[in-house]
Amino acid sequence: MADMGGAEQRTMAQAVATRLWNSRWLLAAGIVAVLTVYGFANMSFYVVLLACAVLLLAAAMLPAGVARQSAEDAAAIEAGGLQQLSGEYLAAAVADPLIIFDRTATIVHANAAAFAAFGGIAPGMSLSLKFRAPEMQALLDSILSGAAASDVVEYTEKLPVERAYRVSASSVGHGTDLYVLVFKDQSEARRIDRMRADFIANASHELRTPLASISGFIETLRGPARNDPAAREQFLQIMHNQTGRMARLIDDLLSLSRLEMKPYLKPGTEVDLRQTLDSVIDSLGPLARENGVAIERDFAKGPLNVPGDRDELFQVFENLLENACKYGQSGGRVVVTIAHSDDGPEPGIDVTIRDFGPGIPEEHIPRITERFYRVDVENSRTQKGTGLGLSIVKHILTRHNARLSITSEVGNGAAFTVHLLAH
Ligand code: ADP
Repeated sequence: MADMGGAEQRTMAQAVATRLWNSRWLLAAGIVAVLTVYGFANMSFYVVLLACAVLLLAAAMLPAGVARQSAEDAAAIEAGGLQQLSGEYLAAAVADPLIIFDRTATIVHANAAAFAAFGGIAPGMSLSLKFRAPEMQALLDSILSGAAASDVVEYTEKLPVERAYRVSASSVGHGTDLYVLVFKDQSEARRIDRMRADFIANASHELRTPLASISGFIETLRGPARNDPAAREQFLQIMHNQTGRMARLIDDLLSLSRLEMKPYLKPGTEVDLRQTLDSVIDSLGPLARENGVAIERDFAKGPLNVPGDRDELFQVFENLLENACKYGQSGGRVVVTIAHSDDGPEPGIDVTIRDFGPGIPEEHIPRITERFYRVDVENSRTQKGTGLGLSIVKHILTRHNARLSITSEVGNGAAFTVHLLAH
């Protein structure tokens, strides 16, 4: 009790301090006026003191009325606003599926989102018949029996497509005999969780394979091959290749995670595509020569600039050109084209990297930019691929608001076109 008294006193003191602070200018003006009169009219000091005290008291009292007034105004606005608000409007304004039902579990009202999600529901229908899953029955039982004022369950709707919901049920107000169900769609979050789990499983598998090979060769070098210099040389070379493979995979994984960490591009930087592609072609010269591939340029005239991040676009073209030199090696040549594209809704520049190798069967094209997806796993490994190159390309292009299109004719090569916006 004593504590309560102390708290009240503190609250009152705070309220008075606030009011004094709010009317500080008025107060200051009053005190200046009193002091001026004191200076000129030769008034008694006690009269001045009294005048100041009256001023302080007035300032502490005055805003109380104002504050009370504004609280009353707020209550009136709230009451007026809520009077116009029907339950139906409120339900319609909720984006998630929402169903209001009575104590016999009969639907009283469902919002548009609920109709869209579950179809075939209508006022008067039994909820227990519509949602027969045991978890939904348990939720309805617990809320209607009064065992809980609100409750939550996880519920999966199987048809027409599988969707996972977190469903919350609660009673509405006091003594209304009405209850509400709200369905929060968790499907997207679940899909992302699954993708992450798959990604970690794939990455671990990719790392474990070379690691297992290295540890196998260490055992062989310690045992049977201990005194065999020729075998030792050969095994050390294989181990060296496997560590290179692990390093490339880790580099690509880090590139992907760096891209995910900075989802937005720095605005305002321009990339000279002519200069960037010249450097990419130069840097891949040794690989092209080693594979017997001639790189041809077909660049449009004039400035070829786009907004973007130079290092990232460099990586895009490097990955595409490297793939063309590796997988399209048998075609013997690769053509790099930069052309203005004015046919789309917005003017842009298209960069196409075309090879004349075996091409990509049509059924693989939609999945080829997925992480770790390869048309031929063995071929990718012998070509020192990680299966992440094209997913890095896709990630960077999304950040640039750009698109990748892939066309291929089996036996006649593949063309990867990057559509970049000019502004
Ligand atoms: P990788 O590291 O395996 O090269 P990418 O993501 O760069 O991974 O490519 C995925 C797969 O797409 C490759 O393994 C290969 O099967 C296929 N691919 C990519 N570019 C070409 C191309 N120009 N011609 C034929 N197949 C290609």
